Amino acid sequence: MRLTAYLIPTLREDPAEAEVISHRLMLRAGMIRRVAAGIYSYLPLGYRALRKVEGIIRREMDRAGALEVFLPVLSPAELWRETRRWDAYGKELMRMQDRHGRDFCLGPTHEEIVTDLVRREVKSWRQLPLNLYQIQTKFRDEIRPRFGLMRGREFGMKDAYSFDRDEEGVQKSYATMFETYTRIFEQCGLNFKAVEADSGPIGGSFSHEFMVLAETGEDLLLNCPGCGYAANLEKAEIALPEEQAGAEEHRPVERKETPGQRTVEEVSAFLECGPSQLVKTLLYEADDTVVAVLLRGDHQLNETKLKNYLGAGALGPASPEKIEKVTGGPTGFSGPVGLDGVRIVADEQVRHLVNFVTGANAADTHLVNVNFGRDFAASEWADVKAADAGDPCPRCRAAMEKVRGIEVGHVFKLGTKYSDAMGARYLDENSEEKSIVMGCYGIGTGRTVAAAIEQNHDGDGIIWPVPIAPFEVVLLTLNVREQVLMEASEKLVGELEDRGVDVLWDDRDERPGVKFKDADLIGCPVRVVIGGKSYKRGEGEIRIRRTGEQSAAPLGQLAARVEDLLGQIQ
Ligand code: ATP
Ligand code: MG
Repeated sequence: MRLTAYLIPTLREDPAEAEVISHRLMLRAGMIRRVAAGIYSYLPLGYRALRKVEGIIRREMDRAGALEVFLPVLSPAELWRETRRWDAYGKELMRMQDRHGRDFCLGPTHEEIVTDLVRREVKSWRQLPLNLYQIQTKFRDEIRPRFGLMRGREFGMKDAYSFDRDEEGVQKSYATMFETYTRIFEQCGLNFKAVEADSGPIGGSFSHEFMVLAETGEDLLLNCPGCGYAANLEKAEIALPEEQAGAEEHRPVERKETPGQRTVEEVSAFLECGPSQLVKTLLYEADDTVVAVLLRGDHQLNETKLKNYLGAGALGPASPEKIEKVTGGPTGFSGPVGLDGVRIVADEQVRHLVNFVTGANAADTHLVNVNFGRDFAASEWADVKAADAGDPCPRCRAAMEKVRGIEVGHVFKLGTKYSDAMGARYLDENSEEKSIVMGCYGIGTGRTVAAAIEQNHDGDGIIWPVPIAPFEVVLLTLNVREQVLMEASEKLVGELEDRGVDVLWDDRDERPGVKFKDADLIGCPVRVVIGGKSYKRGEGEIRIRRTGEQSAAPLGQLAARVEDLLGQIQ
């Protein structure tokens, strides 16, 4: 492809609108342009990268036996009312009415549409299992669209839905999709990790997110360098603490005045103990019942873990009035001693503490040397601490590390949530009617392109992994006014294309400096230069974008050498 016949409006300056590197580089490399908040046009170069990602996804999904379909974007409200998501989805759902005043939405995901299709077409166990997928545009009115393609309001997604006869079947489908996703992201040349994820209100323990590791990621992950356990922070478990040998004797409880000392830091400084010797008592309201949560002073609560543990629909901190009513003391001085009739959930990490400090359920007062059993009983123990760097891995006890990631894919075992709500049933071998068991699987296509750049760039621009590079090779002709150089270049383009290599030919009448800069910005894995001293020697110059490694090859061998190189580099 000749650059003079192409549209790559590169920018010298960093656009003010861009907050993250991928967004900045995609704008500067002329790949995308913003139309409105969270809405982008792909220019030819950007669209080529997207198409490469889509191609890898399509190949692997087909190989896994999934069937490609194309479902409508416009989705009638009746289907969403059947699953109660018309109300539950809230403001993120883009709603509209047709000329007859009938409600529709622009699909943010397609469980309703696909389940409706399957309930009409699938009647017998002989038709199962089935996995239907599509690559299509989704609409979500995100509260904070940002970072270019990362969080758009209109964005590309590959979504797949599996339909199985039973639990065993869905586990198999899930495992197949898990492996397929692993292959897809490997083939995109990405450094990623599959992490255990919170399955949210849908429940069940089967949910993994595929995270591209990058400092700018919006998600926090806990990763165990020992055994490879990895989980989203929302979900990450922590190993149970080990009992300390030779623990202190229980000392008598003392009541201490702590005037004006409210925070953990203030109280522990005032009482001259470490924050880890303090047990804070947080009062929460879970579906209208008050629960007291005990947590070590220097630890933070993970509300998602608590919510899942309690199986609560709604969870939030209790109001000051409620706290006063339940504990008899003001906010900030709650404690478990004498808290009769209240469910006390103690975090596992405080199980072996002795002689600790708690609030006394009275203003400006704390209790010192409090102990479990003697002074109060926890109703139950649960892992509700927000995992942090250094916490012991739940599998192998090695210290976990905290890293950032970008969620590019999500696999999910749905069970019968949608099939029950919409009546998607089949007849088994004994002519008994059963609910179809479902799974769903998403990959953000645009977000994957952006994540690839987030992970692969340097100060000069993008460094494309070969499999998703919009062009694998950029060919620079140094002086386009020299006919011989143009002829040699054209010949090379033909030879590369014959070998199936995507090549962008910079045939612009520009200074070499401009061409080199644009080539680095656009980030094709291999750059070839024709012109200058090497040409006089009958050679062309080859440079690998990622390593900067340079070599030369006789003109007649250039195409073969470049093809070889592309097979070797990442
Ligand atoms: P997030 O937590 O980032 O909002 P999600 O859990 O809402 O993601 P899913 O519903 O699981 O996302 O969608 C499947 C995939 O679609 C995600 O893994 C992500 O790659 C992509 N995706 C989701 N929302 C957006 C968006 N607003 N812009 C671009 N891609 C998105
Ligand atoms: Mg979302």
